[in-house]
Amino acid sequence: MHAISWDQLCRPREEGGVGLRPLHTVRKAACVKMAWRFIKGGSLWAEWMANRYLRRTNFWACRIDNNFSVTFKAILRCRPVLHTAICRQMKDGTTTDLWLDPWLGSRSLLELLGGQLDREAGRGLTCSRIIRDGVWRPEGYTYTAQLAEEIHLITIDASQTEDTWCWAGPGTGGGSGLFCFRSCYDLVRTHHDLAGEVEFIWGKGVARKMQLCAYRLLRGRLMTRDRLLRFGMQIPDAKCVLCNEDDESMEHLFFVCPMTWHIWTEQCAQLRGGVGVDRDIRSILSWIRDHRGRDPGWARRARVRLAASVWHIWKERNRRIFEGLTTPPVGILHNIEFDVSVMAP
Ligand SMILES: [Zn+2]
Repeated sequence: MHAISWDQLCRPREEGGVGLRPLHTVRKAACVKMAWRFIKGGSLWAEWMANRYLRRTNFWACRIDNNFSVTFKAILRCRPVLHTAICRQMKDGTTTDLWLDPWLGSRSLLELLGGQLDREAGRGLTCSRIIRDGVWRPEGYTYTAQLAEEIHLITIDASQTEDTWCWAGPGTGGGSGLFCFRSCYDLVRTHHDLAGEVEFIWGKGVARKMQLCAYRLLRGRLMTRDRLLRFGMQIPDAKCVLCNEDDESMEHLFFVCPMTWHIWTEQCAQLRGGVGVDRDIRSILSWIRDHRGRDPGWARRARVRLAASVWHIWKERNRRIFEGLTTPPVGILHNIEFDVSVMAP
């Protein structure tokens, strides 16, 4: 029985998932990495590929041909992604195609001028035509005043020996210009809205099994008896095993049940002044988030307490159902305190 959809699990934690990476997206990012290594050059493979497929044409203008290898077709299909993530570091302009390479921000001159000067393109003219002695000289070759102005804003890097591509994808800050897989993956994946407080359970220092248990509670995916009945499963009793009074649901088991509420009030008391918290996990998480400015260690202790409490309440419920064993509230509190002392000493 699937508890949470694969798509949901594959989202980053801040977007409500558990941060798994689906293989098809990893493959896409790996293709972009290969395309990056190709345009970056400097390897025998890149040179051989360029000689084989790009002898008479430019990488950015090349049409995908059925005769191309699967690898090269995959590289060419990555061009739209590369466009958004790379920039050209100029030196003397001798290796940058004036019309076809995206050297103006991430756009080519042909793109900017809307194809009105098509016949100039594809003749192999390079940017060296408008650079003299390390300075832009587009005046003799002026297209529009605004464009000339834009060109002047591009830095010519005297430390380079020749023009190079720089990686400027998300999260790199445009600093080193080196390729970063995380940034590349971020570029090709699907983005979702931020999930607010859900992210907060994933901080450092909490055992993964506890985080996953709290995550399933947040997503409403723990298999409590009301859900099992809804799924049509035959169970002898729908009552909460902790109090034997009301029917078991996530809301009852974790927050309404007198026994677990006693555990929460104890936790809140330990966290200094945590009274008046609403009886649901999102409110508790928002409360922790709103109060974490108090001191750096406080939020961590709060997170640890929350995860350990959810874990031990769920464990006690399962122990009572499947093993017929019962721990009194004081024993559960003792177990929570022990885990807290280990994870947030
Ligand atoms: Zn109960």
